[in-house]
Amino acid sequence: MKQLKRSFLVIGLGRFGESITKTLSSLGHEVMAIDKDEGKVNKVADLVTQAVQADGTDEGVLRELGVSNLDEAIVAIGDDIQASILTTLILKDMGFNRIVVKAKNDYHSKVLEKIGADMIVHPEKDMGVRVAHSILSGNIIDF
Ligand code: ATP
Repeated sequence: MKQLKRSFLVIGLGRFGESITKTLSSLGHEVMAIDKDEGKVNKVADLVTQAVQADGTDEGVLRELGVSNLDEAIVAIGDDIQASILTTLILKDMGFNRIVVKAKNDYHSKVLEKIGADMIVHPEKDMGVRVAHSILSGNIIDF
C-alpha cells in the first residue's frame, strides 16, 4: 500500500539530522531542511524540497519561511542544548502535530519532556541497546 506523503521540518543537519533528512526525502516525503551552517545545507540541497541556512532559534525567520505549514518537526541540534530547547519551544508554540527531538543527556531529555516534545531520542544510547539485543539474538538489525 502506498504511504501518504507527509511534510517535515528538520532543523540541524549533523550526521543524525542529515541521515533523517535523506531517508524521509528518498521515501518521497516533503522535507524542509535547516541548518545555521551553509556547508551542511548545501550537502542536502539537491535532495530536499527546500534547504535553508538559518538559525533555528530565530522565530521571525522560521515564520517568514512558513515552517508552520509543515506537519511534523525533527530537532537534531546536538551540542547546543540551549538552542535545541529554544527551537523546540518555538516549534511547539507554532502548533506542529509532532516534534521529535534529539537529546544529548538525561537533563536535556527531562526539559524536552516538560516543554512537550512528543518523541525524544538518544541516537547513540538507543542504537547501543538495539545492537546489544541483536548480538544476543544473533539477528541482523532490522529497519
Ligand atoms: P551529529 O551526531 O548528528 O553529527 P552532533 O550531536 O555532533 O551531531 P552538532 O554537530 O553540535 O551535533 O549539531 C548538529 C547540527 O545542528 C550542526 O550541523 C549544527 O550546525 C546545527 N545547529 C546547531 N545549532 C543550530 C541552530 N541554532 N540553528 C540551526 N542549526 C543549528
